[in-house]
Amino acid sequence: MSRVEKAIRIDQHGGPELMRLVDVELGEPGPGEVRIRHMACGLNYIDIYQRSGVYPMPMPLTLGMEGAGVIEAVGEGVGHLAVGDRAAYASQPPGAYCTARVMPARAVVRLPDEITFETGAAMMLKGLTVQYLLRRTLPQGGLNAGDFVLFHAAAGGVGLIACQWAKALGLQLIATAGSDEKCQLALDAGAAHAINYRREDFAARVREITGGRGVKVAYDSVGKDTFEGSLNSLAPFGLLASFGNASGKVPPFDTGALAARGSLYLTRPTLFTHLATRESAQEMADELFAVVLAGQVKIHVERRYPLAEVAQAHRDLEARTTVGSGVLLV
Ligand code: NDP
Repeated sequence: MSRVEKAIRIDQHGGPELMRLVDVELGEPGPGEVRIRHMACGLNYIDIYQRSGVYPMPMPLTLGMEGAGVIEAVGEGVGHLAVGDRAAYASQPPGAYCTARVMPARAVVRLPDEITFETGAAMMLKGLTVQYLLRRTLPQGGLNAGDFVLFHAAAGGVGLIACQWAKALGLQLIATAGSDEKCQLALDAGAAHAINYRREDFAARVREITGGRGVKVAYDSVGKDTFEGSLNSLAPFGLLASFGNASGKVPPFDTGALAARGSLYLTRPTLFTHLATRESAQEMADELFAVVLAGQVKIHVERRYPLAEVAQAHRDLEARTTVGSGVLLV
C-alpha cells in the first residue's frame, strides 16, 4: 500500500530558492529497510554542499542526512528495530527533509527515552562526527589528557559538541570562530582557548598558546581559508584532519608541504566510512548517547524551522549567523 507524504525536493543544483515542498508516494520497506515517521530532521552544512553542487548529486533529490522519529514498518531481516520504537539516524544517501521515508535500517538506532526527538535530530550526524574525529582520527601515539588540539568553527553544530567532548577527554581544545560572541560560546562549552580567526592570525596565536610547539591535531572543516594556517599550527608528526569545506574546497597542494613542516600527516575523512556497518554505527551511537546522558555533552538547539521554511534555514547557515545545531520540525 502506498501513501502520500511531503518532502523537500530540488531538480537541479543552485540556491535555497530551488527547494520545493512536494507530495511523494511512499511504499512499504523492503528487506533490510524500515519506514520512519519523522518528528524532526537535522540541518547540516553538508546539505548546503549537496544543494549548491559543491558535492555533485543525482537529481531530483531530497536533501537531509539526519532525523529522528518513530518506526512505522519494518522490512524482512531487520532485527534491531520494531514498530513503535523511537529511533534516530545519520545516513547517506540523503532524503531526510520529509515527513516519512523508507530507508536502510543499517544506520538507524533506537533513541534512548531520555533524549527528545528534537535533540536526537540535532545530534546524530554532528555528534557521530565528533565521535569519530576525537576517538578514531588520532595522531601517532594517540591523544592523551592535556594534549592540545585545534578545532575550527567551534561554535557551530559540530563545534560546540567537540568543545564539550574534548573537555570530557581532558584535551586542551583551541577553538576558532568568526566573532567574539562565538568565541565566548566555545569557551563556555569547554574550549581551553578561543581565537577570533576573522581578526587574528590563528596559526601565530596557536604557537603562542602552545609555547611554540603546535598542536597534535588540527580538525579543519573550513577548508580553503584555513588549510594553510592549520598546517602551520601543527607540531612535528601532527595530523591535519581536513573534514569539510565551508569556505570552499582546498586547492590541490604539494605533499612536500607536509615534509617541510615536520613529517605531518593529512587525512580527509568522512563520517560515512565509519557508519558503513551496523555494528560500527551502533558502537559510535552508544558512545555518543553515553556522553549526552551523562550530561558531559549538551546539545545546543538554537533554531527551529517548519519543514516548509527550509530555504530560510539554509540562508541562515550559509550567512554564518547560526551557532550550535538547527532542526526542521516535521
Ligand atoms: P556549522 O554550524 O559549523 O556551520 C558552518 C560554520 O563554518 C559557520 O557557522 C562558520 O562559523 C564557519 N565558516 C567559516 N568560513 C565560512 C564561510 N566562508 N561560509 C560559511 N561558513 C563558514 O555546520 P555543521 O556543524 O553542520 O558542520 C561543520 C562542518 O563540518 C561543515 O564544514 C561540514 O561540512 C563538516 N562536516 C564534515 C563531516 C565529515 O564527516 N567529513 C561530517 C559532518 C560535518 P564561523 O562564523 O565561526 O567561522
